[in-house]
Amino acid sequence: MSRLAIALLLAACAAAAGAPVVDGPEVAPGAVVRWPGEGVERCGMAGGKWDPHDGTCWYAIDLLTPAGMLELGRWRGGRLESRRVRVVDYPYPVQHITLADESQVDLSAADLERVQRENQLIGALWSRRGPARFRLPLAAPLAELPAGGRFGARRFFNGQPRSPHSGADYAAAGGTPVLAAADGVVALAGDFFFSGRSLFLDHGDGLITMYFHLSETAVEQGGEVRRGETIGRVGHSGRATGPHLHFAARWRGARVDPALLLAPERAVELR
Ligand SMILES: [Zn+2]
Repeated sequence: MSRLAIALLLAACAAAAGAPVVDGPEVAPGAVVRWPGEGVERCGMAGGKWDPHDGTCWYAIDLLTPAGMLELGRWRGGRLESRRVRVVDYPYPVQHITLADESQVDLSAADLERVQRENQLIGALWSRRGPARFRLPLAAPLAELPAGGRFGARRFFNGQPRSPHSGADYAAAGGTPVLAAADGVVALAGDFFFSGRSLFLDHGDGLITMYFHLSETAVEQGGEVRRGETIGRVGHSGRATGPHLHFAARWRGARVDPALLLAPERAVELR
């Protein structure tokens, strides 16, 4: 038997045993992975399936994904192709924040109840699905976007551990216009205990962008917004140490670094 024939036979055996899984690169929790390819029909991960954008599958890796192997899939010609990526240990630094108002750290029973109520309203957004109404990169939420971030920072408020930072903070003067990152609908607008005056925009395909600590909002819940439209103004409402925009994104429920949606060429690419 020729070498070619043996190679073909081995390939056939591998195919019969299920599509071979090829190991891919390392990714950080909160990263975005793209996998471009001709004729891709569907994309999938952990039981979920969705459509590609312009022939590229995008995978949102939640910030709290434990370290380990993660299998990503896509369908071409009705056949599943898989890649494994290695989610690395949580790589983000610790950040200590001091708040003068202790009641924002040690919550009263009434505040705790309020936060739980708000979390239910907010949590209901992560399962929203609809046709994609955005393109990448998203539009920057400020006309002049400073360097910023601290996405993923493990946070201690007055020495007490709290949830990691699931957005990017951009310092800006109070009153600076805040812009919609893409077309969409205002899925939730309100004044929340931690995030202050906040807007949650639904751009379809499970992508929700968030704008926190606003001094005022210029759009109503249920209203339509256009990419680049002024939706509010920078402030320091809620639990904030000074005026800044906290900009965040959930994509199909996963907390991802929003800076990667503004510069998707920095996403991890599979080949
Ligand atoms: Zn923030």
